[in-house]
Amino acid sequence: MSNACSLLQLAEVEEREYTMADYEGAMARWCPGCGDHSVLTAVQRLLTEEQIVPENTVFVSGIGCSSRFPHYVKTYGFHGLHGRALPVATGIKLSRPELNVFAVMGDGDCVSIGAGHWIHAIRYNLNMVALMLDNNIYGLTKMQTSPTTPPGVKTNTHPYGAVLPPLNPLEATLGVSNASFVAQTAEWVPAHLYATLKAAYRHKGFSFVRIVQRCPAYLPKMYEDAVTNPDRLEFLVHPEGIDVPELAKAYKNRVRHDPRDLDAARRFAEDMSVIRLGLFFRDEERPRYEELRRPPKKTVEEKLQLLEEEFDRYAV
Ligand code: SF4
Repeated sequence: MSNACSLLQLAEVEEREYTMADYEGAMARWCPGCGDHSVLTAVQRLLTEEQIVPENTVFVSGIGCSSRFPHYVKTYGFHGLHGRALPVATGIKLSRPELNVFAVMGDGDCVSIGAGHWIHAIRYNLNMVALMLDNNIYGLTKMQTSPTTPPGVKTNTHPYGAVLPPLNPLEATLGVSNASFVAQTAEWVPAHLYATLKAAYRHKGFSFVRIVQRCPAYLPKMYEDAVTNPDRLEFLVHPEGIDVPELAKAYKNRVRHDPRDLDAARRFAEDMSVIRLGLFFRDEERPRYEELRRPPKKTVEEKLQLLEEEFDRYAV
């Protein structure tokens, strides 16, 4: 093959338009009706509409039902150890900052065994998207209490009902220094789910998205009321936030919230009497570790000078 021919082929690859089919991996093996299916569809739509190049993209997960995600997206993927999605994603981002990195975690994965990594990933604020698919239960291992299981819910580990107040992932994330993007959406409101993923992808920094997710196998009643009664949801809206005007007809509970207001974001996150969807907080100015750790650029003369100084240390 001539060089001209291979260059032409390369140009064709670079100009190629990706379709949804280009991002479809293996057939998803989640239970019928599982909320993970709609998250997968929304993510594949995002990849298609943003024309995110598959070979420049990595999905990383830990262990759990939602952690099967990398198998179902035709990009690079890493299905790792329980709770360790974020350290792997961090390593990838630090060594290859040009890649699009998505970490997909469940509630057990992210805010239980992976909690230490979660807190530090927020603080490091690397430019990546972290999706926490929160179904309030350990589904893969068949119904144990997770940190977000509400009290009174009967599980295999608490047959008389979970006893502790649940961990609030939004409140905790907003409490970590250097948090830069915190949003919540629900898998059964696909327009909002998609708009949230898009905003998270476009944010420069660590985008933490909690996706409220149904597990019909083990907690079929958990969000039944919220799905059938739109008043159980409250949307945070603002020109700077995530607003989907076409949802206003069906969902009347809309509250104006400026996502630059951290104190208000924390107040909204703390109150769990209603399920709030929207962008709680965003600050593009927060420092990002991948920017800070870059050694300052040096001229050739400066590099030679440093080398000479290094040699002088060993002079006898
Ligand atoms: Fe989904 Fe629950 Fe089935 Fe897991 S057990 S695949 S979370 S419905």
